[in-house]
Amino acid sequence: MTIKKHSVVTMHYTLTNENKQTLDSSVGSDPLTYLHGAQNIIPGLESALEGKKAGDKLNVTVPPEKAYGNYDPKMIQVVPKSEFQDIPNLQVGMQFHVEGNHGPMLLTIKEIKDKEVVLDANHPLAGATLHFEVEITEVRDATDQEIKHQHAHGHHGHDH
Ligand code: ZN
Repeated sequence: MTIKKHSVVTMHYTLTNENKQTLDSSVGSDPLTYLHGAQNIIPGLESALEGKKAGDKLNVTVPPEKAYGNYDPKMIQVVPKSEFQDIPNLQVGMQFHVEGNHGPMLLTIKEIKDKEVVLDANHPLAGATLHFEVEITEVRDATDQEIKHQHAHGHHGHDH
């Protein structure tokens, strides 16, 4: 069975950046299961998996525009430090989830000044070219409920 729209794919993956640092890996723990064609994973990886089958191994290089987008300097914002007075030990690199106009956003503290805090709303991997080493372990058809929910269920998937 080859991967097509509404296949449920189980795979092991290792994600590295251009400096060959490992950013994330499923090897040694549970594999990732996702619903193909539902934008559950980044577009560049999803399109590379199209037509592949269980047992296939592939190396995929994904440019930023097909991963987490290009780095956008306009997504830097400066807010008064007083807005963070409830947070002890404010540090550069701390991350916050906030509700944005287009859904949840992750903000990272980029700089702390005397009276202001510089926040970066770019995805931490924005602008990065990503390398995936993938081994597909299972491909099956999605159930009607999975298609309705637009994500994979069951073993290693969502439990509802
Ligand atoms: Zn569901």
